[in-house]
Amino acid sequence: MKIGIIGAGIAGIASSIRLAAAGHEVTVFEANAYPGGKLSVFTLEGYRFDAGPSLFTMPQYVEELFALCGERAEDHFRYVQVDTACHYFWEDGTRLRVPADPEQFAEEAQRVLGVPAEQVRRFLTHSAEKYALAGKIFLEKSLHRADTWLSKSVAKAMLRLPRFELFQTMHQAHQKAFSNEKMVQLFNRYATYNGSNPYKASGMLTIIPHFEHNIGVFYPEGGMHAITTSLYELSLRQGVKYQFSTPVTEIITEGGRVKGLRTDGESLHLLDKVVSNMDVYYTYKRLLPEEKHPEHILNQPKSTSALIFYWGVKREFPELGLHNIFFTEDYRAEFEALEAGRVVDDPTIYVNITSKLTSTDVPEGGGENWFILVNAPCHQGQDWSQVIPEIRKNTLQKLSRNLGVDVESLLVCEDILEPREIERRTSSHLGALYGYSSNTMMAAFLRHPNFSNRIEGLHFVGGSVHPGGGIPLCLLSAKITSELI
Ligand SMILES: Cc1cc2nc3c(=O)[nH]c(=O)nc-3n(C[C@H](O)[C@H](O)[C@H](O)COP(=O)(O)OP(=O)(O)OC[C@H]3O[C@@H](n4cnc5c(N)ncnc54)[C@H](O)[C@@H]3O)c2cc1C
Repeated sequence: MKIGIIGAGIAGIASSIRLAAAGHEVTVFEANAYPGGKLSVFTLEGYRFDAGPSLFTMPQYVEELFALCGERAEDHFRYVQVDTACHYFWEDGTRLRVPADPEQFAEEAQRVLGVPAEQVRRFLTHSAEKYALAGKIFLEKSLHRADTWLSKSVAKAMLRLPRFELFQTMHQAHQKAFSNEKMVQLFNRYATYNGSNPYKASGMLTIIPHFEHNIGVFYPEGGMHAITTSLYELSLRQGVKYQFSTPVTEIITEGGRVKGLRTDGESLHLLDKVVSNMDVYYTYKRLLPEEKHPEHILNQPKSTSALIFYWGVKREFPELGLHNIFFTEDYRAEFEALEAGRVVDDPTIYVNITSKLTSTDVPEGGGENWFILVNAPCHQGQDWSQVIPEIRKNTLQKLSRNLGVDVESLLVCEDILEPREIERRTSSHLGALYGYSSNTMMAAFLRHPNFSNRIEGLHFVGGSVHPGGGIPLCLLSAKITSELI
């Protein structure tokens, strides 16, 4: 079959590999001049920055693609397992280094926070059990096909539904598991891994820490962008063709079937199937304006966006690691503000520093490459030219306060990414990082399926459709869609 893929995001590339390996003739049309979408890279005055994702879990989903093509992943894509999951900083001076090893994590939580180690062990075991039971249904299969619901494994999982904590919020599940408020906050943060709110999202999301604490945190050699380049090169070896700087402007249909695509408003490409890796909202609104749109799905609440400051810093900070979190004092207020379209004055700040692992990410004189992420609402008409300087000032003050130095005086260079620019670069509706949020119990079912019910031959992959955003889930969406095709 001749298959066209709209977008060379990580899910588009992964789909192209799977479909080409199955013998199809695949062409990827990408609006940008480069592959990877959000998973891209840039260098500023000798400091290298991963522009988007910084946390890498579930490397097996990348390796699986090499195996599928009969190649050894380690010949093309290497990564290390990191020994510290995260360094946490609270305003009252509490510091917690969380070892990646779950047993050491439990012991460290007991030593520093006085949390009974058994509570951490029990929580992580429960998270693993939930993943084993429910992960395969919610993440690895289409929720919109009868055969998913008729299988034995699903029936077994359904019987154990109450154990999934579906009907309480993530925050409530954490309060039940931990007597210590800092521990509750620490685990609440995992809601942000798909842009959700822990005070609203279902307790089902307590499976997220399983990825990081039971399986591990990893870092690709050469940076996160190595995920893009190694998979892009694999797809080329599979015979996938790319047309860069070629925006798709229309999906052509006839009699309820896909016929092809139009690019740049003129060139026609006749195809048997089309897979859209473009945000599902804009796929309908821009490429299928005449078709009936599934508005109830397209108008579900979006995930959060972010403000990112990329800072080249003059000196090194031994107290920081690869991943660092500086918590706000009032986490609930932070999420209430995000829902209201604002960022609080004292936001939680995430700092990622890849130069902790490799000296080639900074200029010869040394220093560190700081990727600072502050959760922000999607673009809803905010005046970002006013908001950004305010958040930048508060971020600098918070880091300076916690680290005991004037951080601003150490900055060598800077770049900033904000919701409108995220939308401009990747056509992500309103600049959402992860498509739609998971803030209701039904969110998983209200994500767009990986296929169209109305247009035969039209499929969807990527962060805005089932099973959701983040690299691992995007790779799984490619798997589900390719298997459906
Ligand atoms: C700042 C930031 C931090 C993040 N942190 C993490 C993290 O730590 N860990 C993690 O797992 N995930 C993280 N994410 C989320 C992750 O990046 C995304 O979920 C994932 O990369 C999305 O991939 P995708 O395949 O859906 O496509 P995208 O990356 O959204 O790419 C879509 C592609 O389609 C192209 N396109 C769109 N419209 C058209 C058209 N009409 N014609 C042709 N091409 C088109 C775009 O140009 C783009 O290249 C982060 C995202 C951001 C922005």
